[in-house]
Amino acid sequence: QAADDYQQMEQAAKYFAHQLRHHAKSSQVIDYLKGRGLSGAVVKDFQIGYAPDGWDGLLLSLAKNHKDRQQLFDLKLVNRNENQRYYDFFRDRIMFPIRDRRGRVVGFGGRIITGDGPKYLNSPETRIFHKGRELYGFYEAKKAHKQLAQVVIVEGYMDVVALAQAGITYAVASLGTATTADQLQLLFRATTQVTCCYDGDRAGRDAAWRALENALPLLNDGLALNFLFLPDGEDPDTIVRKEGAEAFSARLQQAQSFIDYFFSHLTETIDVSSDAGKSMLLKQATPLIERVASEFYREELLNRLARLLRRETSQLKQQIKAPTSQHR
Ligand code: ATP
Ligand code: MN
Ligand code: MN
Ligand code: MN
Repeated sequence: QAADDYQQMEQAAKYFAHQLRHHAKSSQVIDYLKGRGLSGAVVKDFQIGYAPDGWDGLLLSLAKNHKDRQQLFDLKLVNRNENQRYYDFFRDRIMFPIRDRRGRVVGFGGRIITGDGPKYLNSPETRIFHKGRELYGFYEAKKAHKQLAQVVIVEGYMDVVALAQAGITYAVASLGTATTADQLQLLFRATTQVTCCYDGDRAGRDAAWRALENALPLLNDGLALNFLFLPDGEDPDTIVRKEGAEAFSARLQQAQSFIDYFFSHLTETIDVSSDAGKSMLLKQATPLIERVASEFYREELLNRLARLLRRETSQLKQQIKAPTSQHR
């Protein structure tokens, strides 16, 4: 059953890729992709495709019998209405196959080209697709590098692909939701340096702090977590196209360490010159520092906290517990 699911997903990716080249509307779709700066080569590398408008293109192409239709329904490639009629889930969208780290297609993201409706539609969870455990572009990044010296986490499919187009072939996207602990764990098994680079907007900044909170229990010795904040209104795709790959790499080099970000974020809303502010900072920082896996990083955070509070590190140390259980 499972092996067959992956085969069917691969067939769907092939179908969408084929449509991108041969469908009547394909020149319009290709123009859109070109307009976003993508070459045929990168479109091929990521096997980007097109789901035609219409109700049964994929259904007719992939399902021969009822059992096939039921499977496509289970994989959420087709929907079913009240009259038990099946129809394609993705229609008139640019398709991004999501591969697991072994390269098997487990889901899709589909971007609208024109008209209304949600900008992106993602495969719902299925028996082979668990959003919080997959990273778009991870397989492609691992394929491009024997050893991943670093990984950049971005928000969107287009960010991953645009960075790859620019030669930055080590970006992954966390599929809409905030980056989960599972996703960070996967990355820290493959690399020692992770940089979060979300959109330059409220949602992106909130996502950064959530990622930091999720990462604390995973931060063992030797692992680096950095944060790159983009100017308002920019995302990795727009900035790399505006400034080029070298400028983006320079930004990456200057990304904030998680320790710098930790305190700049907390002191954004706290005035540490007052006693009330100092006690508030202590109250907010302490439980977070206690979660950090690495003793080295815990100490470093305590040193910085002590400086802000005008205390000795040794005074704070007595109040701080080491994490009782490490994450997995
Ligand atoms: P583009 O550059 O193509 O406009 P984007 O990636 O910059 O897209 P954002 O609005 O920044 O779009 O969203 C970031 C990511 O969040 C998307 O790539 C997608 O994975 C997810 N996302 C966005 N909108 C939706 C939506 N309506 N439903 C589900 N996921 C979405
Ligand atoms: Mn955004
Ligand atoms: Mn964006
Ligand atoms: Mn974008």
